[in-house]
Amino acid sequence: MPDTKWVYAFDEVGDAEDKVGGSWDGVRSLLGGKGANLGEMTRLGVPVPPGFTVSTEACNAYAAAGETFPEGMWDQVTEALAKVEQQTGKTFGDAANPLLVSCRSGAKFSMPGMMDTVLNIGLNDEVVEGMATLTGDARFAYDSYRRLIQMFGSVVLGAPAEAFEEVLTGFRAKAGVTDDAHLSVDALKQIVARFKEIAKGFPETPIEQLRLATEAVFKSWNGKRAVDYRNAAHIAHDLGTAVNVQTMVFGNTGEDSATGVAMSRDGSTGENHIEGDWLVNAQGEDVVAGIRATTPIAQLADEMPDVYQQFAEISGRLEKHYRDMQDLEFTVERGKLWLLQTRDGKRTAQAAVRIAVDLVEDGLISKQEAVQRVSPEQIDFFLHPQLGGDSRAAAAGEGNLIATGLNVSPGAAVGVIAFDADKAVEMAAEGRQVILVRPETKPDDVHGMLAAEGIVTSRGGRTSHAALVARQFGKPAVVGVAGLDIDLSARTMEVGGRVIAEGEWLSIDGTIGEVYFGKLDTFIPDISDRWLSSLLDWADSFRRLGVRANADYPVDAERARAYGAEGIGLCRTEHMFFEAERLPIVQRMIMTEDAAVRRQALDELLPYQREDFLGLFKAMDGLPVIIRLIDPPLHEFLPSFEDLTVEIADLKIRLASGEGDAEAIRAELEDKEQIRERVEDLREANPMLGLRGVRLGIMIPELPRMQVRAIFEAACAAQKEGVTVIPEVMIPLTSHVNELRRLKAILTEEAESVMAEQGVQVKYMMGTMVETPRAALTGARMAEEAEFFSFGTNDLTQTTFGISRDDAEAGFLMEYIEQGILPENPFASIDADGVGRLIKLAVKEGRETRADLEVGICGEHGGDPTSITLCHGYGLDYVSCSPFRVPVARLAAAQAALAEAN
Ligand code: PEP
Ligand code: MG
Repeated sequence: MPDTKWVYAFDEVGDAEDKVGGSWDGVRSLLGGKGANLGEMTRLGVPVPPGFTVSTEACNAYAAAGETFPEGMWDQVTEALAKVEQQTGKTFGDAANPLLVSCRSGAKFSMPGMMDTVLNIGLNDEVVEGMATLTGDARFAYDSYRRLIQMFGSVVLGAPAEAFEEVLTGFRAKAGVTDDAHLSVDALKQIVARFKEIAKGFPETPIEQLRLATEAVFKSWNGKRAVDYRNAAHIAHDLGTAVNVQTMVFGNTGEDSATGVAMSRDGSTGENHIEGDWLVNAQGEDVVAGIRATTPIAQLADEMPDVYQQFAEISGRLEKHYRDMQDLEFTVERGKLWLLQTRDGKRTAQAAVRIAVDLVEDGLISKQEAVQRVSPEQIDFFLHPQLGGDSRAAAAGEGNLIATGLNVSPGAAVGVIAFDADKAVEMAAEGRQVILVRPETKPDDVHGMLAAEGIVTSRGGRTSHAALVARQFGKPAVVGVAGLDIDLSARTMEVGGRVIAEGEWLSIDGTIGEVYFGKLDTFIPDISDRWLSSLLDWADSFRRLGVRANADYPVDAERARAYGAEGIGLCRTEHMFFEAERLPIVQRMIMTEDAAVRRQALDELLPYQREDFLGLFKAMDGLPVIIRLIDPPLHEFLPSFEDLTVEIADLKIRLASGEGDAEAIRAELEDKEQIRERVEDLREANPMLGLRGVRLGIMIPELPRMQVRAIFEAACAAQKEGVTVIPEVMIPLTSHVNELRRLKAILTEEAESVMAEQGVQVKYMMGTMVETPRAALTGARMAEEAEFFSFGTNDLTQTTFGISRDDAEAGFLMEYIEQGILPENPFASIDADGVGRLIKLAVKEGRETRADLEVGICGEHGGDPTSITLCHGYGLDYVSCSPFRVPVARLAAAQAALAEAN
């Protein structure tokens, strides 16, 4: 290891590239995203203050060796520092001509605010005096010094951040100023002395400061908040962080200095203009911390036109170089522009889609890349709720539009107020929707932000922590709500003269930045965005998997089609039985033992079902419609045994009391007792493994036969009207080919006789759901009868694991996942090793029997991007999911195909 190169000067990015075999991804792994980009900007001739990067390998070696620097690393740091001294003509620790540096973390993937930064390293009691003389600005020198002690104290020495803030607040109050820039030199000197009491052990030796700061960055990789963030953002824990040591440039040396952050395009909407915040006479953390109110970047063009022009040119150049929207940090020191950082900018879902499409239109990326750059979850965001127009107008009319702020993360959220992160988590755990309201957020608040539906802060700008995190996780947010005064001890907030307590309802619109008192209605928007349509059209041209929808009613089918569904993969017919006017007929059908009464009830149900199917066929003109025959156990259509028992007891009490119409009560009692008797007859110890699915059809064939009659009467009628119908009749929960053979024969006979009666021939298929391991294992035999398979992965997961889908998620299953016994919830994402293997086998052997066997999936997994990737690999013909997931599935299916092609 002594020969290992641990440290890379910014102008040695080429060496790093050679080491990793030329891959840019490799350079980012080695130097972290920030270090790699500082090197790249240096190579491109962008003005970057000189510095060097200590590699992520060094961080990992440090942790592996029990928190000791690897051999040779520190020597390389001092050599690199000497080179920086040469480049800048300044000397570290030399009071006559001091070099000051910053020390920042920089992992492969950005983790905003999660790890540590220390600025102004190199100052001590002696050097600060030298700086004061050299710059002729003692206020600036002492302000920089107090910042160093403050950051070093809290970051490296673990002193409480509030202790420093308290001292500052005290001095500001004493001096009667609101801004640190107006504190006198004398005050700053006293502050430095007080800070040193808080930051016990602050080292006077500059090199010792650098050594401890470097260690603190390494350690912060494994700090709790960084670990929590990586868990939430699915970032690997073994990447390590690099440390970037860079010459300080100062944005706080007067009115010709400034600092800011900006995106090369609008991170909220995706529009092609620079967006950001800056502050004159300030240091970097002032902008991101959201403590001072920032100025929009457009104003920089007015106040420092040359700087702005140069910045805009660099921003465009970097965007072209990286072929993506950039997030830039800059500082202006006495009129000279320096770039401190560039990285791919975080963006909202809308912006992600628009930027990806615009970059294709600008000729910078291919359509394939555009499709791969947007995550399926971001598409889901387009289906985010919005505030209902009427509800909004009414609330505004009643004076309930209580505040406006910055619209930093779109979508509407409605919930009860929680004033801190722990409270938000606690309320959410009780099943309440929560809006987290904070003065500003910090990395320690992320768990509360994740638990909340939406976020409001009284301070902070577009690039504040709250804004970045909310955008990344798709949480609607309004920040910088200036009129909002939060009293954390009283657990209330005051806004516009109104006092609102924790637990009261709030509604927010993160798209335009409005905050309403009360619980407003929300709705799901129509997704007709031109950029989204282009992206999804491109996705369609790349995907091999078809996408269908699970829809029970014509209105769902129409929506699904508008979202791009290519048919219905599952219509659960029993849902139609639950409608108010139909349920009594269904119950009569179930209650009777008399065949004639049952036939009569079924005859009454037939026209309803026919209407349902006619609506579906019309909505899906030209596309296949899979109709599943009745599946659940019959007791589900009757009241529960427990409810009936209570009702019967009540009726008996009323009868005994002599009140009311005894005759009527007696009749009702008799009725209920009869129903309870039938419920008792139908009671099974394990209804999900009992008389349901195909078994029900075999025991009561009149029932599925009525459904098939309704399907074919509707199909013939539709076809006569010129609609192209493609019905697929699906038999649920089979486990033996003989079940399928028996029921299919009965149903085919019924279908054929309807078509003969109607004088119409409809092209149709009969198939089965594969929901039991036996059905999957005997796919070759099942395909002798089935013309299609549809994997009902909800049941197939239940039957493969032997875990009840209705109970497990509320109980031990979550504990299993927390303890790592299961890697993830198998009801959310297909269990590739078990359920997935069954699917693969059934597809392979089913197709050996019947080459044109159609195979798809209709369980909830059909809308899950990870499962969709697996389904692509299993060679399924389509996935079917809820209408709202259709656009997500279209993109996920395209990404699966593109990933395979690469
Ligand atoms: C399934 O089991 O995956 C399925 C789609 O059917 P249901 O959820 O109605 O049981
Ligand atoms: Mg099922």
